[in-house]
Amino acid sequence: MLIIPCPWCGPRAEQEFHFAGEPKARPVPAEQVSDQTWAHYLYHRSNEKGAHRELWSHAHGCGRWFVMERDTHTHQILSTKAPA
Ligand SMILES: [Zn+2]
Repeated sequence: MLIIPCPWCGPRAEQEFHFAGEPKARPVPAEQVSDQTWAHYLYHRSNEKGAHRELWSHAHGCGRWFVMERDTHTHQILSTKAPA
């Protein structure tokens, strides 16, 4: 079990959190974006080995979103912070 440090609540069990993928900018303007670009935005994941940025929500706590940097090889949490 991971212990995830929420930037606002402190360390909590991973069951309190919701993973939401990679933080990336939504393509705009939406009505002019091609199907291929939308498909890439929705379904393409970089699946990197090593340090990786992820978007999480403390769904069963404060409800706030944050960005976690985590090593996908060791599962070590490197940092958590508010989205920019
Ligand atoms: Zn929290």
